[in-house]
Amino acid sequence: MNCHEAHAQLYTFIDGETTAIRRLRIRWHLHRCPPCGDGFRFEERLKARVRQICRDEMPPELANRLMTFIREHDSDGSVG
Ligand SMILES: [Zn+2]
Repeated sequence: MNCHEAHAQLYTFIDGETTAIRRLRIRWHLHRCPPCGDGFRFEERLKARVRQICRDEMPPELANRLMTFIREHDSDGSVG
């Protein structure tokens, strides 16, 4: 697995919508690759925060917009 693949599967990984094998491969890549590991932790924190705010009561489209908003205002520009 390379960085591109890891990034592509990061969201399903965080959502838990991935197989055990794939999760292991992603986790292994994140472990070996600090930039991807940092990105993962950022996304995970972002998700947790959105969940905390909306408590699953928010339409997906609105949640996505909120995620984008938080990402823009919470990032120092080094993520991605
Ligand atoms: Zn990587």
